[in-house]
Amino acid sequence: DGPEPHSETLLARRQQHFARPQKNYYLKPPQIERGWKDHLFDIEGRSYLDMVNNVTILGHGHPRLAAAVGRQWSLLNTNSRFHYASVAELSTRLAALAPDGLDTVFLVNSGSEANDLALRLAWAYSGARNIVSLLEAYHGWTVASDAVSTSIADNPQALETRPAWVHPVTAPNTYRGEFRGADTTDSYVRSVVKKLTELDAADEKLAGFICEPVYGNAGGIPLPKGYLDAVYAMVRARGGVCIADEVQVGYGRLGDYFWGFEEQGVVPDIITVAKGMGNGHPLGAVITRREIADALEKEGYFFSSSGGSPVSSVVGQVVLDILTEERLPENAQVVGGYLKARLEALGQHFPLIGAVHGMGLYLGVEFVRDRETLSPATEETAAICDRLLDLGVIMQPTGDHLNVLKIKPPLCLSCESADFFADMLGRVLEEGW
Ligand code: PMP
Repeated sequence: DGPEPHSETLLARRQQHFARPQKNYYLKPPQIERGWKDHLFDIEGRSYLDMVNNVTILGHGHPRLAAAVGRQWSLLNTNSRFHYASVAELSTRLAALAPDGLDTVFLVNSGSEANDLALRLAWAYSGARNIVSLLEAYHGWTVASDAVSTSIADNPQALETRPAWVHPVTAPNTYRGEFRGADTTDSYVRSVVKKLTELDAADEKLAGFICEPVYGNAGGIPLPKGYLDAVYAMVRARGGVCIADEVQVGYGRLGDYFWGFEEQGVVPDIITVAKGMGNGHPLGAVITRREIADALEKEGYFFSSSGGSPVSSVVGQVVLDILTEERLPENAQVVGGYLKARLEALGQHFPLIGAVHGMGLYLGVEFVRDRETLSPATEETAAICDRLLDLGVIMQPTGDHLNVLKIKPPLCLSCESADFFADMLGRVLEEGW
């Protein structure tokens, strides 16, 4: 059995010519050919429930998006130095989605670019260089977005190789972080106070603070209540700007909140968004206040050859239309709530499940060997993901210990699919993986 030779040959070619650091899922991956809503299909016609695809928020193969892109490609594609309707329309709609005052938009092609630009804006606006970030975070692959990425799951050397302007503080993970439990806000805020006091004492000026407003790498753990309110105030008091990386958690996935920062009841100075915004088309944005955007003019003008192109801008608009008309954030809330309850019920039976994190369709099942010590069940998580593939479910581990199931399916996930996932996970746990 095993994959067709055709598929193996292609995998070998991929391994030979597609640079190695670009990892693929699974040792023996199925060769995917087609996607429809929350499912993927391989070349043998096997279907898989896609529970991991945080980018394809509308679902795979959306006919309306495909038609709109095709139409726009045959009509016009150029760059944003030209005047055409869709770039103005998308910018207006993004500004309307953001809180009052954040009315100015840059259009780029990815989350990394959006965060890179956000950092440059923080530098230009504040005139300072130092950025406070969180440990165990991922913000992108470009030089600046990588610099503030401290996750050792993505880069085992991350902590030794950050540039001097990056000042990470302890990750406010209320489940397994330095301080545990809901009542840890003060302790986590104190760790930021300590870092800022050190910078003040060294006369190091602050440019800004970047974090995901719901803690993504850990599987969607909300930050302790009031954490961002306190941290944002301290950052602003020093002339820094507050960047909310909404690349994963924003845009309706959380169900209850369109933006992650709403969960903390704060308003950032800069929002970065990508991934779901283009449903897989390279599209990202930075949304900020006019005076912050204008500060970049000190460095000349900003231009991205295909950021905000007619095709990308149409994609952005159609994604928003479909998101609203198909009520996908509401679906994330309802189906996500249902799925979370089913996963929590599994947690009653299987001690390996230490916690079910997250909200909406941004969930994480954290596996531990011991609920007291929280010893991470890393090997077990890998084995569970492999077995789920046999059973027709695409799932991958996340978190610094790779012991959390990364549950971020398309927002059109049906209740039947949620049941299938929970049933299959239950089966694997019953089998003993
Ligand atoms: N920020 C976060 C929180 C992310 O999860 C990612 C991608 N995993 C990025 C930024 C970078 O986005 P991209 O891959 O589109 O460059």
